[in-house]
Amino acid sequence: MEFLSYNNHVLSLGLKQKSLWPLAEKYTSPVYIYDLDFLADRAQKLQKAFAARKGLLSPLQVFYAMKANSNIEVLKTLKNQGCGADVVSAGEILRAKEAGIDGAQMVYSGVGKTVRELTLALENKVDQINIESLPELLRIIDIVKQRPQLGPAQVALRINPDISIETHPYITTGLKENKFGMEISLIPELVQVLKDNLPSVTLVGLSLHLGSQMLELSSFDDALLKMKAIYLDLQKSFSTLQRFDFGGGLGIFYDRSDLALEESLLQDYAKIVEKHFADMPVQLQTEPGRWLVGHAGVLLTQVQYIKKTPHKTFAIVDTGMHHLMRPSLYQSEHRILPLKTTASSLQAEYDAKE
Ligand SMILES: *Cc1c(COP(=O)(O)O)cnc(C)c1O
Repeated sequence: MEFLSYNNHVLSLGLKQKSLWPLAEKYTSPVYIYDLDFLADRAQKLQKAFAARKGLLSPLQVFYAMKANSNIEVLKTLKNQGCGADVVSAGEILRAKEAGIDGAQMVYSGVGKTVRELTLALENKVDQINIESLPELLRIIDIVKQRPQLGPAQVALRINPDISIETHPYITTGLKENKFGMEISLIPELVQVLKDNLPSVTLVGLSLHLGSQMLELSSFDDALLKMKAIYLDLQKSFSTLQRFDFGGGLGIFYDRSDLALEESLLQDYAKIVEKHFADMPVQLQTEPGRWLVGHAGVLLTQVQYIKKTPHKTFAIVDTGMHHLMRPSLYQSEHRILPLKTTASSLQAEYDAKE
């Protein structure tokens, strides 16, 4: 299961091994290329891995975290695979709609939701607003009280379980010092506010997102244990609470072209969810981003100059960090591969640092 491979010395992408060379000739460099068949396959793999867990009573709902890549064709492809969208702004709500995803297939996350954005979300009947703070909940209640026809707002509480995952510190979100979600000790107060404002807001779910690029799942396991107890406890007060959103964050292997390890990680991931939620009448939801799209695209760039200094030799390309931010944002690794590996091509070691 190689998704990047060489055929006759030319790099090809996707499970059908589509050659990238004709595209490099056709389009002006730099250009992003996506393999939409591969993307569709990823969505199916995720859904199938959970469908295979017989202890889970209903199919997993997938909300693509569109901050990972909001290209319209990417969105349409995932929509056709039955995915909804995890949105974090008015712009993302509108973009998702443009791709044919309507509010009923959206969950709305993010710590900084403005009045305008929340109003837009409610006007579009966004299915679930994942509440990140008490002031946000009060803001939603306020909006619905002023315009009752927008209610009831369907909300989920995003709880911060104070659990660390093994990833880069810039992309953890589930620790008490992170700005995301609400601390467990705030729950009694949230419950009171929800009860006092029942016609305006309905508690439909509990949500979690631990961070990104998880390649080790023991913290996820610990977090689900904590969250399940909270879920069952909250259900005693709210019969409308039927959903558990375990967030995104499943990692991918950037240094490999084969998917075998990811396949087994995915199986483990589904097994952990099954372990905690087996035989429970709960609607499970997930918000993957990176896992769906990370391998489905490449950025083609052309070397413009070989620049030699007394210290180093640089290959200067016609792209930059604005086209591929991840490596500069948090020192991540990103593979750079030649499009052709023929003997005539310049083979040497170049410096890719700025
Ligand atoms: C970023 C984010 C995701 C997706 O994370 P990935 O690591 O790309 O799967 C999901 N939910 C929320 C709330 C996020 O901020």
